[in-house]
Amino acid sequence: MKVLVIGAGGREHAAIWALRKSPRVSEIVCAPGNGGIAAIARCVPVNQKDLSDLLRIVAEEAPDLTIVGPELPLSLGLVDELRRRGLAVFGPTQAAAMLETSKSFAKRFMQRHNIPTANYAVCCSQQEALESLHLFHLPVVVKADGLASGKGVLICETRQEAEKAIADLFDGRLLGAPESLVVIEEFLTGEEISFLLLSDGKHVAPLAPAQDHKRWGEGDTGPNTGGMGVYSTDAMVDDAMREWILHHIAQPTIDGMAAEDTPFTGVLYVGLMMTARGPMVLEYNARFGDPETQAILVRLESDLLDAIEACVAGRLCEAEFRWKPGASACVIAASKGYPGSYINGYRITGLDAAAQVPGVEVFHAGTSLVDGQYLTNGGRVLAVTAAGDSLEAALKRAYEGIEKIQFEGIYYRRDIGHRALKKKS
Ligand code: ATP
Repeated sequence: MKVLVIGAGGREHAAIWALRKSPRVSEIVCAPGNGGIAAIARCVPVNQKDLSDLLRIVAEEAPDLTIVGPELPLSLGLVDELRRRGLAVFGPTQAAAMLETSKSFAKRFMQRHNIPTANYAVCCSQQEALESLHLFHLPVVVKADGLASGKGVLICETRQEAEKAIADLFDGRLLGAPESLVVIEEFLTGEEISFLLLSDGKHVAPLAPAQDHKRWGEGDTGPNTGGMGVYSTDAMVDDAMREWILHHIAQPTIDGMAAEDTPFTGVLYVGLMMTARGPMVLEYNARFGDPETQAILVRLESDLLDAIEACVAGRLCEAEFRWKPGASACVIAASKGYPGSYINGYRITGLDAAAQVPGVEVFHAGTSLVDGQYLTNGGRVLAVTAAGDSLEAALKRAYEGIEKIQFEGIYYRRDIGHRALKKKS
């Protein structure tokens, strides 16, 4: 079977790495891919922001199955268009992806279906937002409605900060273009868990749980990022809690989308805050998370292609999932300056030595391959990932791997998994 993967990050590298283990995969093409992906799949250039270019690639490559990684092609309606053409595609339609692409849609949806989430107000104007602010205690969370690559969420400690966030969003100072909708949300406290699941529009299959580290600095300090590292253990969500989340959050979400005639097919990422009142949904993403996917897929023992195909065919209940017991960990090597501006093009060394550490996989997030040499090509450069019998073992391997890698200005957090390790001690 020929598979086309759309995307260019560590998540796509990990997915392709997992797909290659399937005996039924004969060829994998990635559009556009990156330096690391080019070593295991044929990469073809594409403009991911341009629906007609994406459709051109699918027509040229004629894959048996297309897997859409990032949110942007989903928001452009790539899946809808491919389905209209009768092609097999894994991912949600534009309407179903609104769980991610519109926070006001997601909040109202959760309210309609009694899915636990923070209290909120959707505001259409600055004045309405300023008036609604009085309904919330401090700190308060102010969010842009649409996709903003993590930059659209502001946690405000004071009323002045919240007023400024509202003004900056509505007049376009924060995101470059004025927002027409802003969501104000109650601030929740607790531990965050990424709960990912596959769905065929009806059934739900949970993947191994994971915990991301969104802040740049050790001890969870500094600015928010796309994720600086992640770990996965079974212990982070016990059986009873998993059943509760499936029963009160995951299945009602899939049932609600089906009832509203926008069935959700693909990967649903549910960002949860484990509050004293129980798990509450912080956000939905309509695709694999990054770097969660890297840590999850190194634990997957069963065939990823079988699961994806079962999803596409609407028979997910027949799919088999087997997980490596124990744990996994992923540490991100980032460019100096990230999540702000950074310089690309630095030579990366030590990749082979890192990959030789038992159990370590080095997934490329932002690299290019020029004349046989890997160069940095992004804020998040590499996702050094390892499975192990325990969290300690997985972390030890991931750090042993990353320590062998060098590039100018390399930065990584040295405390991935710190909360879980503290709980154990
Ligand atoms: P963007 O839309 O800009 O890409 P995002 O989709 O990542 O951002 P969220 O997941 O909603 O945005 O929020 C990002 C982070 O902000 C969360 O992971 C969490 O740490 C924090 N956060 C969001 N909402 C709340 C809340 N209600 N209470 C406490 N923290 C929150």
